[in-house]
Amino acid sequence: MPLRIATLEDDWTSLADSQLGDLAAQLRGDLVRMGDPEYETERQIWNGMIDRRPALVVRCAQVSDVVAAVKFMRAHGLRASVRGGGHNVAGKALCDGGLVIDLGRMNRVQVDSALLTARVEAGARLGDVDAAARPFGLAVPVGVVSRTGIGGLTLHGGMGWLLRRDGLTVDNLLALDVVTAQGESITAGPGEHADLFWALRGGGGNFGVVTSFTYRLRPVGRQVWFATVLYPYSKAQQAIRFWRQFMADAPDELSSFCVLRGRPMQAAGKVVRQPVVAFLACYSGPFERGEEVIRPLREWDQPIADLSAPMDYHLGVQRMFDKDYPAGRCYYWNSLFFNDLDAATIEQIVHYAGSGPSSLSSVNIWALGGAMNRVSPSETAFCKRDCQFMVAVEANWEGREHATANVAWVGDFVEALRPASRAGAYLNFPGGTGAQADLIKECYDKNFARLQAVKQCYDPENIWRCNFNILPGSPPPGD
Ligand SMILES: Cc1cc2nc3c(=O)[nH]c(=O)nc-3n(C[C@H](O)[C@H](O)[C@H](O)COP(=O)(O)OP(=O)(O)OC[C@H]3O[C@@H](n4cnc5c(N)ncnc54)[C@H](O)[C@@H]3O)c2cc1C
Repeated sequence: MPLRIATLEDDWTSLADSQLGDLAAQLRGDLVRMGDPEYETERQIWNGMIDRRPALVVRCAQVSDVVAAVKFMRAHGLRASVRGGGHNVAGKALCDGGLVIDLGRMNRVQVDSALLTARVEAGARLGDVDAAARPFGLAVPVGVVSRTGIGGLTLHGGMGWLLRRDGLTVDNLLALDVVTAQGESITAGPGEHADLFWALRGGGGNFGVVTSFTYRLRPVGRQVWFATVLYPYSKAQQAIRFWRQFMADAPDELSSFCVLRGRPMQAAGKVVRQPVVAFLACYSGPFERGEEVIRPLREWDQPIADLSAPMDYHLGVQRMFDKDYPAGRCYYWNSLFFNDLDAATIEQIVHYAGSGPSSLSSVNIWALGGAMNRVSPSETAFCKRDCQFMVAVEANWEGREHATANVAWVGDFVEALRPASRAGAYLNFPGGTGAQADLIKECYDKNFARLQAVKQCYDPENIWRCNFNILPGSPPPGD
């Protein structure tokens, strides 16, 4: 039976069985079409809020499958999205009615411990990368939940426990293999397609399908000191003020965020159920110094609980939040960057964090700085290099019927804090899917025009548009 599928121009077309058969014959992976037995499972992604119905999924097993999928979508003018780990909060991995290029089977990781590099296929999860690097006492600086996809995380920056020592994930990129909008497989790095290499370090999925990333590996001891110290929420304002000052003087080897859980926890298995403000910090410097470095976080006041201890970096630290973010729950997030947190801003953060509708929600204040801020704003597409803090507002809840209240809480929170913040947001976190042109422009600041020019060069017809979309544009004057 012909398959009805959406086109790039927001229209519909039909694909005959013979056309789908021709595509399938070129693949080492396979096709899942709407109505197939695996279809309902295939269209699930991490965020239970997202309910999209693509017509066709190409489950790619190798680069030539991606090339075939891109040529097919072009030949038929199809709307397409790219799926790495499927963890994008706004559900950008799936396009309604269109074709999904699913990279999930392309998840091999090759570590070269002599050259200190890792070549990672774009469907890998962070845990795949950690598992491969662990035997060598090495790591790629990635995010803090092991099931997250490496693809989306890298392309918008990538923040985690090595942020202040080693920078963003993109700051550790050496090269990327990319299938372009023309279906050509190329490599982008400092010496070839350097403009594309620049744009892919923060510009998201706008420029082609990345099939693998090559990263510089960093040394990380098997055991690191990790601080987990919980204080009563009633002391949240004082706690944030203390932590802000402490992090201003902290060594680069200490990355930290301050977590606000403003509602009593209902979840089973929680050590503490009352509202808390918590200091979390990972020290990746010499192990014997770690206990001393994190001591002030533990001794600031009388904690409700202090779970600080040496932990296995790859298997402990990198997985400690996995259970807090189960697939299928509803999520809606946003974020703000700050130059600093003044008393009025802290008061507002504590007020809003304590008034969310769901006890599963949290607000994480990330301390930036260190290596991340020593990169110039124009060196990579990601440009928020002089901000000292990022506030991530996470509404997490059960049951789609509660979406309105949770989405409104995030919206009100962000709007109240926006005047004190820097323009834009961290594009790995927004949950919204509405009009975003102004937000995207603000995220890239002075880099925006250059990104439009790279887009014009590599995707002039904007076939990659199911993302935080950058429209093709003319090169900036003088280029
Ligand atoms: C539980 C959880 C924890 C998180 N923790 C962190 C964290 O600690 N630090 C942090 O920085 N971020 C974090 N994030 C945000 C995360 O980086 C983004 O959600 C990211 O989009 C996930 O990548 P993915 O491959 O799973 O995305 P997907 O949903 O698979 O893809 C999202 C979009 O990215 C683009 N894309 C993905 N792969 C490719 C590719 N190979 N080629 C071209 N385009 C591609 C496409 O536009 C795609 O639609 C977290 C998210 C979750 C859900």
